[in-house]
Amino acid sequence: MKTISFPSGRSVPALGQGTWNMGEDPARKQDEIRALQLGLDLGMTLIDTAEMYGEGGAELVVGEAIAGRRSEVYLVTKVYPHNANLEGTQAACERSLKRLKVDCIDLYLLHWPGCFALDETFDAFEALKKAGKIKEYGVSNFDLEGMQDAVDCGAVATDQVLYNLIKRGIEFDLLPWCRQQGMPVMAYSPLESTGREQAALLGNPGLLAVAEAHGVTPAQVALAWVLHQEGVIAIPKAVDPVHLRANRAAADIRLAAEDLAALDRAFPPPRRRRALDMR
Ligand code: NAP
Repeated sequence: MKTISFPSGRSVPALGQGTWNMGEDPARKQDEIRALQLGLDLGMTLIDTAEMYGEGGAELVVGEAIAGRRSEVYLVTKVYPHNANLEGTQAACERSLKRLKVDCIDLYLLHWPGCFALDETFDAFEALKKAGKIKEYGVSNFDLEGMQDAVDCGAVATDQVLYNLIKRGIEFDLLPWCRQQGMPVMAYSPLESTGREQAALLGNPGLLAVAEAHGVTPAQVALAWVLHQEGVIAIPKAVDPVHLRANRAAADIRLAAEDLAALDRAFPPPRRRRALDMR
């Protein structure tokens, strides 16, 4: 599997696993744990979660899924902006560590910009780093200006943003800038999440034609396209084992120049600056 390096030099698989909507329904918990474990078995060892998901429920699921396998996993979680002052960030991190049942988080992100001055959040991140509670930190849902400010305040490892064939706005400014900085971007909702939005992506005739030519599903092509982008980590969420195996196989799909051109026609790249897409 393709790997991507953070500025720290830490290398991770370009294909990880998301956990939004996990930990919300006790009846689904065992399936969610099994799904994450299958993902680890398949090499998708970066797991992305957040204190927000299921109000801690997703972190509890992750904690059970990685029990006894901590060393295999690159663990990412996020602090709520309303918790992200000096004391609040450190307290939120302690709660996440407890739910995840680990001593250290690999990458701790500010979930979106907002409530407190960034230097205060980053002071807290630095204190957590010094205490060995997190290895590195970054942000999520920051646009280009936000990132330019962020790198002036601290050692940001990544920006986690919405990116898929339909939501390509970051290609105009943020993505090239992150590449220049040697900073990977983490693409969330690479399959455009669920419902009507996902149906609009997966039912696109241009995508269907490329999928048919490769003998794979439209979701696999959509994911292969995200993974084809330089410096991008994709974190699809999947509980269905068929989806997990399909996603792993998507990492091995090689899109030819003619496939990429067909996808550009179906999902035109941005020609001007757009406000950052967010979920
Ligand atoms: P997503 O990964 O784009 O899509 C998830 C949906 O697609 C689920 O319904 C899943 O079904 C289905 N799916 C997965 N693989 C599939 C396949 N091969 N074929 C068909 N369907 C497939 O959406 P997401 O959960 O919004 O985004 C991924 C992760 O990014 C989240 O889980 C979260 O960790 C992160 N995220 C971060 C932010 C942020 O603000 N930083 C925002 C949103 C998401 P099953 O589960 O039934 O398999």
